[in-house]
Amino acid sequence: MPRLPRSSSQLPLILLLLLMLGSAFFATSMVSYQSAIRSLRDAIVNTELPLTSDNIYSEIQKDLVRPVLIASMMARDTFVRDWILAGEQDPQQMTRYLREVQEHYGTFTSFLVSERSATYYQAKGILKQVNEAEPRDTWYYRVRAMREPYEINVDVDLANQDHLTFFINYQVYDYQQQFIGAAGVGLAVDSVVKLIDTYQARYERSIFFVDTQGRVTLTGSQAGPLKVKTGQLLSSIEGLEALQDRLPRPQSGNYQYREADRGHFLNVRYIPELDWYLFVDKHDGGAMAEIRRSLLWNLAISVLATLLSLTLVALVVRRYQRRIAALANTDQLTGLPNRRGFELLAGQALQDARRQRQPLCALMLDIDNFKQLNDQHGHLAGDQALRAFAAHLRNLPRQSDIVCRWGGEEFAILLKDSSQEAARQLAERLRVSIEALRLPINGQQLQMTVSIGLSQREDQENIEQLLNRADRALYRAKQSGRNRVCEASHVTG
Ligand code: GH3
Ligand code: MG
Ligand code: MG
Repeated sequence: MPRLPRSSSQLPLILLLLLMLGSAFFATSMVSYQSAIRSLRDAIVNTELPLTSDNIYSEIQKDLVRPVLIASMMARDTFVRDWILAGEQDPQQMTRYLREVQEHYGTFTSFLVSERSATYYQAKGILKQVNEAEPRDTWYYRVRAMREPYEINVDVDLANQDHLTFFINYQVYDYQQQFIGAAGVGLAVDSVVKLIDTYQARYERSIFFVDTQGRVTLTGSQAGPLKVKTGQLLSSIEGLEALQDRLPRPQSGNYQYREADRGHFLNVRYIPELDWYLFVDKHDGGAMAEIRRSLLWNLAISVLATLLSLTLVALVVRRYQRRIAALANTDQLTGLPNRRGFELLAGQALQDARRQRQPLCALMLDIDNFKQLNDQHGHLAGDQALRAFAAHLRNLPRQSDIVCRWGGEEFAILLKDSSQEAARQLAERLRVSIEALRLPINGQQLQMTVSIGLSQREDQENIEQLLNRADRALYRAKQSGRNRVCEASHVTG
């Protein structure tokens, strides 16, 4: 049996779904992308950088507390004071004392400068006489003039990074509170440098200290992500040039800037003990790339899910459309195409016949005295007879022929590429075989006969005209006694 033609397009539905699903997926992907970026920034700005800064700061304090205590102890030591007050008689005594301090506490250096003699004592002996005119000795005169009892001075030895030292310079007073000199120790800042190295390497952060002139004073021994070196000016670090102008007092706090294609987060903390700024810098390069990658994955999965859903919807809709179309075109009792289905198929058959110049024949069939069968045996028996009749019709013609229930107990058959003679033979065969059928109904063997009208399509004739002629032939078959085949007369005029 030929297939029924397809019905209406699903394009608008698919486009609408595409729009809905696409925009929903896109919106959720973008929302989660934005919130991932926000939480990344929040984590860096509010947690990671301040935490690093806190740790470095407390390490600095730890590094400084010990030397301050040692220096304070030296400044208050009665031996030191008595020895100065006694006129610095035996320098060996003082150098022994200083050596003991240096060795016992593991300091980098220990010293005493006497106000009265201006002598600079070291663990190794007398170093020199301090002189107010000597730039290298200005620290002593600064300490002498201080109101606070001590200062922390960082000697940045640019030539040799290892010797970067915190000096604790403590004022020494006699028992009448007269200034008699300065004592103290110097300590390397190893643990801070080590901590900076760890943070720089492990957490991809750049950590460095900057003085009020914008010069980098201290950083790790290995270059961090920004490759900042001690002695470098802020103005020579990409992205930080602008901060140079805000010194000497940039506010402690968070800054954001861009360098190359990376966003940077910078935490600045002022350290009053050193009069330095601690810079902790982190770029979002790696994490952002990760987030962007997951956004792309999200979008790809969304596109895939959208396409899959749409394909599924299209398949389901098409299947239902076909089923509905088939239902609308099919007769429920016999399963044959109904008149609507026949018209669709016949239109196609007519086109083929015209194009290929092939003959087309129509049979109109009407079961004889069917009303009587219904009346005698009941409507259900009538239905059964109709189903049996339809099954018989379906089996007889060729695959390409179109069989339909025209209505009631009438059926139509369209025979493609069939001569009138072949159609007549088929009709006759049908009539005979129907007559021979026995229907077991209500314990009886029922018999039916059928009258058939036959027409062959003539030039320019359409399906309706062809069927009309077959119908008139059927009428003649009824008129002339039923159970027979009548052929239509040719079109006249
Ligand atoms: P004729 O030989 O002149 O065709 O006589 P007939 O009785 O077959 O013709 P008529 O048109 O008088 O009666 C047709 C009957 O078919 C009437 C109708 O009730 C019955 N019929 C139509 N459709 C159905 C159906 O679906 N089921 C059943 N059981 N009967 C049907
Ligand atoms: Mg009838
Ligand atoms: Mg009838």
